[in-house]
Amino acid sequence: MGGLIAGFAGYGWICVAASATVAVASAIRGRGTWSALAMVTAAAAVIAVSSPPTGKTHPEVVSTRTDLLGRVRARAARSIDRTFGDDAPLARALLIADQHQIPPEMRDRYAAAGLIHMLSISGLHVAVIAAAMELLFQVARLSRRASLLGAFITTAIYVAVIGAPPPALRSAAMLGVAMASRIFQRPTSPWAAWALGAFVPLAAPRTAIDVGYQLSVLGMCALLAAGSLWRRHLASRLDGWKAKLGRELVTSVIACAVTAPLVAWVFGRISLIAPVSNLIAAPVITLAQPVLFLALLVAPFESVARFLAQAVHPLLFAFDWIAWRAASVPGAAITVSTTLVTAMFGAAAAVAFVIACSSRFPTRPAIAGLSMLATMAVVPVIPGGGAREMEMHLLDVGQGDAILLRTDRGRWVLFDAGPSWQSGDAGRSVILPYLLRRGGSLEAFVLSHPHTDHVGGAATVLKALHPHAYWDAAFAGGSGSYIASLTTAKAEGIEWHRVHPGDSIQLDGVGIRFLAPDSAWTVGLKDPNLASTIALVQYGVVRFLLVGDAEQPEEDWLLEHHRDELRAQILKVGHHGSSTSSSDAFLAAVHPELALISVGARNIYGHPSPDVLRALAVAGVEVLRTDEAGSIIVRTDGTRVEIEAKGEKWELSHDSLAH
Ligand SMILES: [Zn+2]
Repeated sequence: MGGLIAGFAGYGWICVAASATVAVASAIRGRGTWSALAMVTAAAAVIAVSSPPTGKTHPEVVSTRTDLLGRVRARAARSIDRTFGDDAPLARALLIADQHQIPPEMRDRYAAAGLIHMLSISGLHVAVIAAAMELLFQVARLSRRASLLGAFITTAIYVAVIGAPPPALRSAAMLGVAMASRIFQRPTSPWAAWALGAFVPLAAPRTAIDVGYQLSVLGMCALLAAGSLWRRHLASRLDGWKAKLGRELVTSVIACAVTAPLVAWVFGRISLIAPVSNLIAAPVITLAQPVLFLALLVAPFESVARFLAQAVHPLLFAFDWIAWRAASVPGAAITVSTTLVTAMFGAAAAVAFVIACSSRFPTRPAIAGLSMLATMAVVPVIPGGGAREMEMHLLDVGQGDAILLRTDRGRWVLFDAGPSWQSGDAGRSVILPYLLRRGGSLEAFVLSHPHTDHVGGAATVLKALHPHAYWDAAFAGGSGSYIASLTTAKAEGIEWHRVHPGDSIQLDGVGIRFLAPDSAWTVGLKDPNLASTIALVQYGVVRFLLVGDAEQPEEDWLLEHHRDELRAQILKVGHHGSSTSSSDAFLAAVHPELALISVGARNIYGHPSPDVLRALAVAGVEVLRTDEAGSIIVRTDGTRVEIEAKGEKWELSHDSLAH
């Protein structure tokens, strides 16, 4: 999690640094007051971003402010629900940047279609509303100045009413600058306005790590770059409808290219269809947005609001249809694994292309951008420093199991896929982001048993990462998630294997040997826990024993049939530390030095059992729990064992074995 936040914050930094560069550049070009102001703000923003809010300075101010905005937003959300009915989830996302009601498969669809930035209220929406308001005031025969002022005030009210989400705030700040420059008839570089708009983190530093905010900064940057490219190099070559279409196409291609590194980093995807889908979806949203806004504005007059909501329904339907259609085009999106290094090269390439677009001499920055891209493509192929280590990652998935093995060549095996719940699963929210961030391929999935807290995220992971094999104890248990995982495996052409004692997988020097369940043993069993897949993982002389949710009867079976093979330095404790597992005899046979417990904080089962913890303590075993430590990494070169958790690393002490 720390790495993730660091990554997001990294992008916030890029936004701030880019803004500062622009401010400096426009100052050099003699854009006077605005750019000087932008530079001062840049320096302040850097300080603000580098020191996260502690809340110690003015706690009461901070909390009142959040509460007030929170209340305002909650009230807007309620009136959206009342007014829009079935369209409410989409209307919530588009109007108040609240995506909580958007189901995960819908979000996936928008990411694949390259339209996800439209869901996270890109600043564009605010600009659309401001333009519509200005038009409205002009139609009402107000003077130019009064229309501009009126439009700005209504937009500011809108941003306040929706609880001031960062992208909207950024956009409003930028619009304010642009409108002020028009009212006072002082020409301002759009880049300076953009730079000022990008300094929202100054007021609320956490904004820098908000993805919607980052997308909106980058999106607006792309719009400016596209406009500049168009004026400098392309406008004179086309006219009429060709010019209009050409400009839109250039804009959406550049917007997609500039946001691609961020989208790949956060969503693990690059949408190839994005330029086309954006071209089609943009006018639909441009039409829908002002109507949505009006409906929210007149919410107190229910019948008028409902009428507007019905009027906008076909547009929302069309928007969703475009996303669905674009996402279902074969090859619409590719799944990518970004590491920090490749993301940095991608971001640098994007910056170089923006400079190329807005520069009079585009050749050099374009070449720089291309060489960044080339380096980015080569980086993953460069062999690592030759560190021969394997890792086991016990992911924090709450109450459930998800364990990853990583070989020294960066290939992965997943044991169990965490729980699922009504609106999502651990595959989507934990495992995929975790894997995509680290790169490398998933070679196999091993399921311990078909309970939802172990198989919940399996279908999602199988579908996204296509491992070669699915190993399963094949205990006939019919949870919905289990059936979904089997159907997905079949549809994706993933080979399904039944686990037999003695079967093994060899991968880059890591041996995985299955000790149970035996089909003769599972016949007549009622409880899937007792038919858990038992896997012994060996690298060098270091051994890990993974026992799923095995309880004492299966432990006894193991003692009877594999007593001599159970010894392992690291034990993934059975059944989340339940008292029905980890019998004294079993613990004595395994004789672990480190016990790992995957368990949800304050779970309703009371796992792990104090008796088990006491037994482990008495045996001198070091214990780590995911509810206390979060995700845990155990690393070994085949002899030494290093543990990484809670941001610290330490070596497994062998002294604990002294007695
Ligand atoms: Zn379980």
